[in-house]
Amino acid sequence: MVLMLKFFSEDEFIQILRKHGYKATPQRLTIFEVLKSKDHPSAEEIYEAIKKRFPSISLTTIYQTLHLFSELGIINELGFSDNRSRFDTNTNPHINVICPVCGKISDLEDELVVELWDSLEKKLGKKPIKHRFDVYAICDTCENKIQAGRVRIEVKNI
Ligand SMILES: [Zn+2]
Ligand SMILES: [Zn+2]
Repeated sequence: MVLMLKFFSEDEFIQILRKHGYKATPQRLTIFEVLKSKDHPSAEEIYEAIKKRFPSISLTTIYQTLHLFSELGIINELGFSDNRSRFDTNTNPHINVICPVCGKISDLEDELVVELWDSLEKKLGKKPIKHRFDVYAICDTCENKIQAGRVRIEVKNI
């Protein structure tokens, strides 16, 4: 059984902000919408998508907003060794399957993952504050390119 992806709705998002004394500004709402429309985007990708609507917004503001969302538990920041963080709106226990060639990240949600988290929680005797589980596998698109001899494997993002 594959579980439904869990993202915060816009109403829940606004409530979380208000509960912590933050306003749901048009910028914050748009950043949240862009986050949900992309798969594990980087801050730069969000910036590119948003600056058309808010030409005066800076990359620093995007970073600050993403760090705020992450602190409030709305998203998870996935830091990597190349310093390019990716942002995950799926707050359910899941495995991030990362393509080491193109960097694409897809979520794997499975009953097994939920069972693993449940048993980890029991072993720890407490609820973990945060979770992150990454698995590296070459995606289908890159696999096809490699088979066609069009790319050489250049492993990054690990
Ligand atoms: Zn790939
Ligand atoms: Zn994810």
